[in-house]
Amino acid sequence: MSVDTAHNLPPSTVYGPVKSWRVGNSLGIDLLFTSSICSFRCVYCQLGKILEHTAERKIYVPTAKVMEDLRASRWQEADIITFSGNGEPTLALNLAEVIRDIKAFTGKPLMVLTNATTLGDPRVRADLREADKVFCKLDAADDQTLLRVNRPVAGVTVRSIVDGIKALRAEFPGYLAVQMMFMPMNRKELEAMADLLNEIRPDEVQLNTPMRPVPRDWFRESRGNHLGLPYPAAQLKTVDRADALTIEAQLQELTGLKIVSIYRKD
Ligand code: SF4
Repeated sequence: MSVDTAHNLPPSTVYGPVKSWRVGNSLGIDLLFTSSICSFRCVYCQLGKILEHTAERKIYVPTAKVMEDLRASRWQEADIITFSGNGEPTLALNLAEVIRDIKAFTGKPLMVLTNATTLGDPRVRADLREADKVFCKLDAADDQTLLRVNRPVAGVTVRSIVDGIKALRAEFPGYLAVQMMFMPMNRKELEAMADLLNEIRPDEVQLNTPMRPVPRDWFRESRGNHLGLPYPAAQLKTVDRADALTIEAQLQELTGLKIVSIYRKD
């Protein structure tokens, strides 16, 4: 059996808990696991390389394997259980089944981090209704920037993403946040981003900038907090603290929404 090279353990679909600046102690669930699998290839992706660039929904890991790994994990220490892992969790066809089983077993709140490319599919939105929180990625206000920053599979546009988030917003009874990763290459789109936020009206906007190094290759352990792991990695250009505070103030003024920023974390 292969081992988790960082921890000398057999590989597991459950990792952490890891400390998250947004939600506290977060236990990660990885429904992709077999590889890095996503409908985006973001320039800042902490997985390093997306090896399967796809929008295909299928079962990548059986639910029974996830539940076995969960029982062997330190799930009791988690404040929240988060579906993220080695790619886009809504590509897993057993997402709703796993959410239901984990909720029944742990009684903990459950959250899904999604790149929002699949939300136009009503079956995906139905799956997400099983979660307590959904955080949707939105980094671009025009398709040219989307191509540069997120590098989606064919057919994904800013409009398809925003319409998908709006459809989820209308149906989802839980807490919906929009996450924005600001970098010099999308900094100029602030006002257009505010317009999109005013269309969506999420419960919260989360401002981030790519502080984590980007590994040059894919390592399964990159799904968690991999700072300090001995992998060759690149550091991207971030927005600095002063600029982040300006962005926050401008978005606040343009939208009136609740805004949290990585630059204000403890
Ligand atoms: S959506 Fe997430 S997993 Fe997919 S490429 Fe972007 S950062 Fe990586």
